Amino acid sequence: MKKLVVLFAILCPIFAAVQQYDGYQVYEVTAKTMEQLQALIELEQSGSYDFWNRIGFNAPTDIMAAPDQIQHLTDYLSKSNIEYRMKISNVQQLIDLPKSSEKLGPHSPRYNMTWDNYYRYDDIVEFAYELAATYPQLVSVSSAGQSYEGREMILMKISNGGDGTKNAIFVDAGIHAREWIAPATVTYIIRELVENYAAHPQYIDDVDWFFMPLINPDGYEFSHTNVRLWRKNRRPNDDVNSTCVGTDLNRNFGYHWNEGGSSDNPCNEMYHGPEAFSEAESKVVRDAIWAEANRTKSYMTVHSYGQYWLTPWGYTAELPDDYDQMYALAAEAVAALTAVYGTQYEIGSGTVLLYPNSGPSDDWAKGVAGIPYSYTIELRDKGPVYGFLLPPDQIIPSGIETWEAFKVIAENVAKMP
Ligand SMILES: [Zn+2]
Repeated sequence: MKKLVVLFAILCPIFAAVQQYDGYQVYEVTAKTMEQLQALIELEQSGSYDFWNRIGFNAPTDIMAAPDQIQHLTDYLSKSNIEYRMKISNVQQLIDLPKSSEKLGPHSPRYNMTWDNYYRYDDIVEFAYELAATYPQLVSVSSAGQSYEGREMILMKISNGGDGTKNAIFVDAGIHAREWIAPATVTYIIRELVENYAAHPQYIDDVDWFFMPLINPDGYEFSHTNVRLWRKNRRPNDDVNSTCVGTDLNRNFGYHWNEGGSSDNPCNEMYHGPEAFSEAESKVVRDAIWAEANRTKSYMTVHSYGQYWLTPWGYTAELPDDYDQMYALAAEAVAALTAVYGTQYEIGSGTVLLYPNSGPSDDWAKGVAGIPYSYTIELRDKGPVYGFLLPPDQIIPSGIETWEAFKVIAENVAKMP
C-alpha cells in the first residue's frame, strides 16, 4: 500500500501536467467576403482560440474551441455570416487513437525509427548519428547550436565530398512543434537518400544537402509529453511581463519582421517575439542557413498541414521578381508528388493564396540569404480529416510522395549555374 501511495505521488504530477482535449472541437470556416475575413482576423487576434492553420480568403481555416467556448464561437460565426462546419467532434479521441503496433516501415538494427509511428527527439538524434556512423562517406552530423532548454539542434550534411562548391539544398522541419508529420517525412527522405544511395546516386553526387530535421526540439518534446497541440518554442515571456510561454519561431525571422500576420501578444499562437531573432532556435537556424547560403539554390521548410507549396513573400502580396521561375519549379515538383497517390497541392505565394505572415523563415532565406528557390511546404492532410493529428500510417506515404518532389528539386538545383 505504501508503495502504491509513493507511486501515485510520483505519477500524479506527471499525469496532471498532460493537457486533455476532451470535448474540444474543431470547426472549419471559410471567409468569402472581406467582412468575413476581417471578422476572422479579429477573432484570431483576440488570442482566445487556437487557429490550426492560416486564415485565407476563400480558403478553409480550422479553429479549435474548448467545450466552454463552442457556444461563443458558433454564435460569433453566425453573427458574422461565416459558414462553418464541425470537422472534429472530440479532439481527445483522435489523440487517443491507438498507435500502430505493426512495424511495416523501413528499419535498421542500429536505430529505433521505423516511420510507422511518430518518434521522439532522442530517436531522431540517434537516427542521425547512426546514419553518419554507418555511412561516414556520405553523412556528417554536427550540432548547429542549442535550443532554449539546451537540446542540441542537429545539422546533417549529406554529400559525397568535393570541394564544397556544389549547388546545395537546405531543408528544415519541425519549427512548429505540433506538426509531427514534418520531421517524420524529412527523416524518411534522409533515409531514402542515404540508405538507397546505390539506386539513385545522382541525388547526392550532384548536389550537397543540409538537413535540420527538428528545429524546435523543446516544443516538439513538450507536444509529446504535455500539450499535444503546442506550436511555439518554450522560452517563457517574462521579459514582457507575461506568464505565457513561447514565441512563434516562424514569425521571428528578421526580414520585414512584425509587418502583419503576427501578434505582439505573448499569449497568441503567432507571437513574433520581442524582436527579430530574439529566440535561440531562430538564431541557430539563421546561422546554419547563412553558412552555406552562397551555394544554396533551394531552401525548403517543411510544415503541416493543408497541402500547399508556398513561395515568399509572407509580408506582402507583391510577388518576387523571379516568381515565375519559383512557380515553375514548384509546379514540376508538385506534379511528381501528385503522380504517386493523387495528393493535390496548391502552389502560390503564401500571402496571395492565404493571408500575410511576416517573419517566416522562407522570407528571410530569400530576402536576406538570397536563396532563390525558397519554399514553405505544408504537408498532408487537407480536410475533412485529421489536421495535426494525422495518423502515423500516413507517414510513409507522405515520405514516398514528398521524396518524388524533392528529387525534382535536386535535379533542377544540380543544373543551376
Ligand atoms: Zn507550421
